[in-house]
Amino acid sequence: MYDGSRIRVVKGAGLATEVFEGDAFKRLPGKTGIGHVRHGVCQDNDVSGAQPFVFRHGGGMMAVAHNGSLTNGRVLRERLGRLGVVFQSESDSEVIGSLIARYFSLGMVGAIERAMEELEGAYSFVVMVDDTIYAVRDPYGFRPLIAGSGPAGWAVSSESCALDAVGITEKRDVGRGEIVVISHDGMKRIATRASRRSCPSATCIFEYIYFARPDSIIEGIGVAAAREAFGAMLAREARFDADVVVAVPESGVTAALGYSDESGIPYRQGLTKNRYMGRTFIRNSQMERELGVRLKLNAVERSCAGKRVVLVDDSIVRGTTGARLVDLMRKAGATRVDMAVSSPPVKFPCTYGIDTASRRDLVAAVKSEDEIREMIGADALHYLSIDGMLEAIGGLASARDTGEPLEFCTACLDGRYPDAISCHGKCRPPKSLSYADSGVDIDEGERAVQLMKPAVKSTFTPGVIGDIGGFGGLFKPDFAGMKEPVLVSGTDGVGTKLKIAFAADRHDTIGIDAVAMCVNDVLVSGASPLFFLDYIGCGRLDAGQIAEIVGGVAEGCRQAGCALIGGETAEMPGFYPDGEYDIAGFAVGAVDRGRIIDGSKIRPGDRVIGLASSGLHSNGYSLARKALCEVGGFLLSDIPEGMDRPLGDEMLEPTRIYVRPVLALIERVEVLGMSHITGGGLVQNPPRILPHGASMALSVDTWRRPPIFDVISRTAGVAADEMFRVFNMGIGFLVVVRPEKAREAVNILVDQGEDARIIGEIIPGDGRVEFQGV
Ligand code: SF4
Repeated sequence: MYDGSRIRVVKGAGLATEVFEGDAFKRLPGKTGIGHVRHGVCQDNDVSGAQPFVFRHGGGMMAVAHNGSLTNGRVLRERLGRLGVVFQSESDSEVIGSLIARYFSLGMVGAIERAMEELEGAYSFVVMVDDTIYAVRDPYGFRPLIAGSGPAGWAVSSESCALDAVGITEKRDVGRGEIVVISHDGMKRIATRASRRSCPSATCIFEYIYFARPDSIIEGIGVAAAREAFGAMLAREARFDADVVVAVPESGVTAALGYSDESGIPYRQGLTKNRYMGRTFIRNSQMERELGVRLKLNAVERSCAGKRVVLVDDSIVRGTTGARLVDLMRKAGATRVDMAVSSPPVKFPCTYGIDTASRRDLVAAVKSEDEIREMIGADALHYLSIDGMLEAIGGLASARDTGEPLEFCTACLDGRYPDAISCHGKCRPPKSLSYADSGVDIDEGERAVQLMKPAVKSTFTPGVIGDIGGFGGLFKPDFAGMKEPVLVSGTDGVGTKLKIAFAADRHDTIGIDAVAMCVNDVLVSGASPLFFLDYIGCGRLDAGQIAEIVGGVAEGCRQAGCALIGGETAEMPGFYPDGEYDIAGFAVGAVDRGRIIDGSKIRPGDRVIGLASSGLHSNGYSLARKALCEVGGFLLSDIPEGMDRPLGDEMLEPTRIYVRPVLALIERVEVLGMSHITGGGLVQNPPRILPHGASMALSVDTWRRPPIFDVISRTAGVAADEMFRVFNMGIGFLVVVRPEKAREAVNILVDQGEDARIIGEIIPGDGRVEFQGV
């Protein structure tokens, strides 16, 4: 329940009446809430898988409860796990909630819609954020979900009979792929991209056969009416020569009445249920639960003695209870027992949220009808045919006033799983195969180009020739003032920092990193970057997302003073997961040969000036993610102790670009060597410019270390030497100058907006970095 400031939860094992006995409801004040009842997956009191699950997200808390089963739940779970999500249970609700939280920046409806694009299989779920409830149903509509209003307010439920119980009068099924929002403003229905998909409906036929209560209505068809129609069709298919029709209570009763009406054979109560069943309801599976119930049945002798009985049951799953039922009839004096089953044989497991047995345990999958008849000891056995079942319910479907076509999932009966790849040809009308069918959307690519154009043009320098869209990027360099111009190039990517961008669904800064990693490398030689080209590979091209990424690339180019003259976006469905991408690029700069800075003039006594980094930059993210998200269990919205902003913001801080301040420095002070502190940290990068016989001594306490480095080290126990080997530890770029020029150089850099300071000096040595004060 949402109590006005937070979500409170009560969970427990047992019947709902037991969990909520006493003052349990007093602990749940508020006017908005969600609840869930499930059968246990184990016999103890473990409630780790009990719903709803409560999640923290960027804006607060949300609770999720769900019915159904994701067919790609394992894949999504692994993917989210790699992004740092830690799961407490095996429940798909956690996957759904984590996915929605990931997209929270899109707003709740946007986040749900985005999550729906990745969810596959059967789901009807409710999400509560503060006092607003979002009810969502998958595009096939496997599992029912009904919303409505009445004098007491608004409600949504997996069964319409539950709404009747609380006085909800205006009811309607939540549409396939629809989001229903219930808030202060009432109830709003929102069609999503998923609802516009052309897949057929696939309402679970077993809801009508067995699961739902007879007084429920699903998709405009009363469950009792459906069961009666199945019973009547059963009688038309197999009219046994009998004296009485007897039902297996409770779910077989309505079908037996239909059989009786159609056949003219009188219905009698031949089996009765012990009302004092105790705790048999809490059983491992749906089917075992049924078994537990049936063991409590007793025969009514008066109805059966000396009679030929048609025994009507809704289904036979494992076949373990049929023999007992037939035996009960015989012991009550029945002279003949013919078994009539108001569903076709269950031959396949359900992958959409019903806990049926595995295929080898389904008796109809491994035995013929005659073998099953023999096993249960009946004189005859008849299952309703699939055609008969569909004809019976089809009559009711076409009598509805909505006029909408209605199709049913029958996968456990015929093995035709509706969301299988081809969808049995039902999803889309046949047409010639196009590039779009294979997942490559050329039109979306063109849209991306149009969206990114203004940002790209904003980087153009006088050297750019031509426009966007050429085969090659043309650039006319101005080498005036250079005696012997030399081109310097650098290439790099962003690495697993991208994982943070995916998790945060933020893509506007990652392009800056791509540029920074290249231009800072080019700068080390003293070169001015002239132009940059990028490459983006993605699973599914989303024009908006690509434009965001390229917007970052353009920003990086502007900061570096170079032009973005070309790029490539490759859509590779199946190669990258949907929503994910990789980015790389390269920069080309120029320097006069006589002014190349290569460190050869460095000698002991020279001073080392450090330029502060903006944080992790783009290196060490595999270790950082493991330490913070896996070991530390931090979410990107968390603010770890010692930090003053959310982890996601800190980890997405773009790599600092040092081009303009360092070029300004080079113009005024002789710079002897420079080092970009990238992969390999402060241990491996400085030696790359040291001449023979020189080492570098750095005083660690001379600069300020961003708190994220201490959080990583503290959280995962990463040793100091490993930290300095992997991360920049607060220094993104080093400059070496003569000692007498050091102060002037620092002042120039500070004037350019850098946090620069003398952090060490060159000492005689064998090309290593020695840290003082670690
Ligand atoms: Fe229902 Fe059977 Fe389909 Fe599962 S497989 S959703 S039980 S019809």
